[in-house]
Amino acid sequence: MILKNLKSKGYRLTNARKIIINLLLIAGQPVDVFELNRLLIKKGMIVNKTTVYREINTLVKERIVKEIQFKDGKMRYEIQLKDNHHHHAVCQMCNKITPVVSSALEKTVNQLEENIIKENEFHIIEHSLEFIGICNKCEPSRAESTGLPDIKRRNPVPTS
Ligand SMILES: [Zn+2]
Ligand SMILES: [Zn+2]
Repeated sequence: MILKNLKSKGYRLTNARKIIINLLLIAGQPVDVFELNRLLIKKGMIVNKTTVYREINTLVKERIVKEIQFKDGKMRYEIQLKDNHHHHAVCQMCNKITPVVSSALEKTVNQLEENIIKENEFHIIEHSLEFIGICNKCEPSRAESTGLPDIKRRNPVPTS
């Protein structure tokens, strides 16, 4: 579907393009460019970083990929599927990102939006919400640790 769509718009379906779309589809969570590079390398694909950025930009432009800026300041990218509106819960210990789907939440937000529109004469196109906390996996280690949570960083990916 996604590929057919791109092709009908005159885009060439290069290997890199296909693999990037595929990786984002199976990632199941928003990934940043470093992570995307790491996944590409794992697939045996060495793609120039500039190419990755260019591909991502094209996919964002075509609204195939959504660009999300999380509180850590990093841009992450997620495949945008139809009727797949959701939010994210981010673990501040391991950076795990979990999708949050809640019709009750959306109902409340929609009501809030109506109020905002009325009170501020502001047209709302969409909203973005991010929940920050600690995932179940990290919770035990938090109990053991003393002082401030120590944020585990992912292994830095060598960049070319
Ligand atoms: Zn965690
Ligand atoms: Zn929402």
